[in-house]
Amino acid sequence: MLEGRLPLMLFGRVVDSADASRCEGGDYEVDARLRFAPAGTAERSGAGGWTRLSITANLSVPLRCERCLEAYDHALRIDTEVALVADEASAAVVPDALEYIVCEARVRPLDLLEEELIMALPLVPAHPDPAHCGELGEALVALAPEFD
Ligand SMILES: [Zn+2]
Repeated sequence: MLEGRLPLMLFGRVVDSADASRCEGGDYEVDARLRFAPAGTAERSGAGGWTRLSITANLSVPLRCERCLEAYDHALRIDTEVALVADEASAAVVPDALEYIVCEARVRPLDLLEEELIMALPLVPAHPDPAHCGELGEALVALAPEFD
């Protein structure tokens, strides 16, 4: 099991999608836990076998709200499971409900975590509650109520 607080700066692709200048201060961290199901149990079966990976992470990502254009921190809470397989053939034994990832011989856990972080980022960053938007957002909503 891997557990710890990691600087958000480690995840370059997340930083690229975020308000990068605010990431640099080192104030942003990813509180993450990766747990690999022990090999040799029922988790391993069939062709090349597979490994269940549980990923939980809590973090705030500095983003810019597209409604009011102000900076805000977007809270992300990730709690997911994926199956790691050696090749496509091995994926046949993975339960349908589980997303699988075909891994090269060497897996970098940080890459797996980064992938989950990227997928969890909002497509359109915005304050979860429009009431938190700044004055510009309020003005826009007043002008065009359907904008929300
Ligand atoms: Zn806003």
